[in-house]
Amino acid sequence: MYEPVIGIEIHVQLATRTKMFCSCALSFGEEPNTRTCPVCLAHPGVLPVTNAEAVHFGLMIGLALGCEIAPRSIFHRKNYFYPDSPKAYQISQYDVPLCSGGRLGDVRIHRVHLEEDAAKLVHAGSSGRIHGAESSVVDFNRCGTPLVEIVTEPDLRSAAEAAEFGRLLQATLRRMGVSDVNMEEGSLRVDANVSVRPAGETALGTKTELKNMNSFRFLERGIEAEIARQERVLADGGTVEQETLHFDPVSGSLTSLRSKEEAHDYRYFPEPDLVPLAPTEAMIERAQAALPELPAARAERFERELPPDLARLLAFRTELGDFYEAALEADSSHPRQLANWIVNDLLGALGDREPGETNLDPADFARLVGLVADKQASAGAVRAALPGLLEDGSIEEVIATSSVAEGDELGGIVDRAIADNADAVEKIRAGKDQAIGALVGAVMRETKGRADGGEVQRLIREKLGA
Ligand code: ADP
Ligand code: MG
Ligand code: ZN
Repeated sequence: MYEPVIGIEIHVQLATRTKMFCSCALSFGEEPNTRTCPVCLAHPGVLPVTNAEAVHFGLMIGLALGCEIAPRSIFHRKNYFYPDSPKAYQISQYDVPLCSGGRLGDVRIHRVHLEEDAAKLVHAGSSGRIHGAESSVVDFNRCGTPLVEIVTEPDLRSAAEAAEFGRLLQATLRRMGVSDVNMEEGSLRVDANVSVRPAGETALGTKTELKNMNSFRFLERGIEAEIARQERVLADGGTVEQETLHFDPVSGSLTSLRSKEEAHDYRYFPEPDLVPLAPTEAMIERAQAALPELPAARAERFERELPPDLARLLAFRTELGDFYEAALEADSSHPRQLANWIVNDLLGALGDREPGETNLDPADFARLVGLVADKQASAGAVRAALPGLLEDGSIEEVIATSSVAEGDELGGIVDRAIADNADAVEKIRAGKDQAIGALVGAVMRETKGRADGGEVQRLIREKLGA
């Protein structure tokens, strides 16, 4: 038996107005190389200036994660040669990060630091041949975009836990408004460090690193594949080699990007052109005051009325949580049913939309769920009407067509079921109580589900004197 050990490194593009060390606006798919200046293009003699808003966001993230804020940290140059970096180094933080030693849920945060993003290489392939060779072009719009890197301790023990942690962190950052946190567009980028060790062993095994997964589902599958691979290696008496891997979600295969021997030596040295980062009390207070209620706290609050799984699901999806709270405000008598309806029925009907992108009013939703909870509307009929309601349906019509058969109407239907099912009636009278199912079934078919099962049973027994 082996125990997986996972630590996560997350890069987050900050949603600041301008870049990390120059006044260029951030880019959202503009024409290539239109969001550049001498600083982010690394012309000779230019000087970087630290973006105060990026520091503010960095502090917010550190505080949200319960980190210690360094009274004084500095930037370093991380040297490497590649066309995505015109300076041939990245300005990052090294031995003293802005924030360290926090926690999110059960996972300890090792550090949070500020740095800058690289340019984007576009591989033009054979259509972009220059002198007969395939070529790549560089778009410097992304170069210098503020990044925060968040590094966890190796506290995760399964692929599912890692994905769950990633979703919580994403929800937290989204709620704070410090980033778009869009994995497909690359504003949230996740690397997973994976090792396995024999159960009971306390020393860590050799880790490999899975680069840049672009969805949490792929992250989970990639980690699962890598855990399985390492377990096979160890079970066959081999040793895991330290390397960086790419997971292909289509084929499910892992390929090596680079081995330990090819690891870079970045020759970090202090950035001489920037002053140290020394946040004042006022800066820290301002960052603290800018923090909204975060998903973890919201989940705890929801848990007073809901089971933990349900509470977390609603709290991690800010818009769903908002919808739940708005519905609850309209009718607070059925929190659990509301939450169940949102998670079990609404979520499916939404597809990849958020509730706010549909025509469903939270108060109308609360009214329908209340009618179902009070057994005045049929769950099946409301469920069937949901997709229409999201488009532009009328709630009055749904209420009319889903209202539960009761009183004389239901009495008449039960009478007919009794008349049409002499066999079952005989059996019930002879004491075979299960036979009542056939009668209830007949009533349900007749009402198309618009009847309360308990009430139908009660009526049948009453009428049969059973
Ligand atoms: P590196 O120097 O290779 O970047 P770090 O010690 O900085 O390694 O850790 C990077 C990430 O890898 C962190 O998230 C950390 O929790 C995780 N990590 C470190 N060692 C292991 C291990 N043996 N197994 C799994 N994850 C690990
Ligand atoms: Mg590292
Ligand atoms: Zn610039």
